[in-house]
Amino acid sequence: MSASLINLAVHGIGRPARALDPGEEERWVSVEQFEQVLDIVTERDDVHLTFDDGNASDVEIALPRLVERELIAEFFPLAGRIGQRGSVDSDGLRELARAGMTIGSHGWDQRDWRRLDGRHAHQELEVAPQVLGELCGELVERFSLPFGAYDRRVLDRLKRAGATRVYTSDGGVAHEERWLQARIELPHDLDQCWIDDTLSITAGLYRRVGRAAARFVGFAGI
Ligand SMILES: [Zn+2]
Repeated sequence: MSASLINLAVHGIGRPARALDPGEEERWVSVEQFEQVLDIVTERDDVHLTFDDGNASDVEIALPRLVERELIAEFFPLAGRIGQRGSVDSDGLRELARAGMTIGSHGWDQRDWRRLDGRHAHQELEVAPQVLGELCGELVERFSLPFGAYDRRVLDRLKRAGATRVYTSDGGVAHEERWLQARIELPHDLDQCWIDDTLSITAGLYRRVGRAAARFVGFAGI
């Protein structure tokens, strides 16, 4: 059995430099919250960081803090937003790649991949990684799913497009060697309590049983 790990999905950090889509603020964290997470990631080799959407904060806020801590992460920009206000530009993309970060694809334009016609499927799953690859100078063959949305057809299309790894937003623990990787999204109200709860899920069955038992006893005592 492969080792279990936790994949975290970061969207934006700090003050957004563009108008957010509806609901997007739910997944936007402050610099302080992000640094709280980094402190844990630095100490744990079973917690992996990924970044979706290609927000400018990837390069402006995340990159220097990752480099300072000698951490490697994966970035999944939207190819159609490269160079737009509030998003990473092609220099930023190259900077990420030069720093040893992996560049994957989040598609072209944040579409639900379950509802793509043939033309858009081509743009989202084939053109987007190709364009990102040309911009960053590396082969782009990993994907993260917009909205975490997928079905059997999406996964088949990704396999045909040559995806070597696909990140969902399903939550819970992932397994190192699997093609499909579950992730947990950072919420806007993340605090130390969220970090403790979320990152304790790989800390072993004994501890989880202990916590559940403690809660049960506490509840029964009321
Ligand atoms: Zn997204």
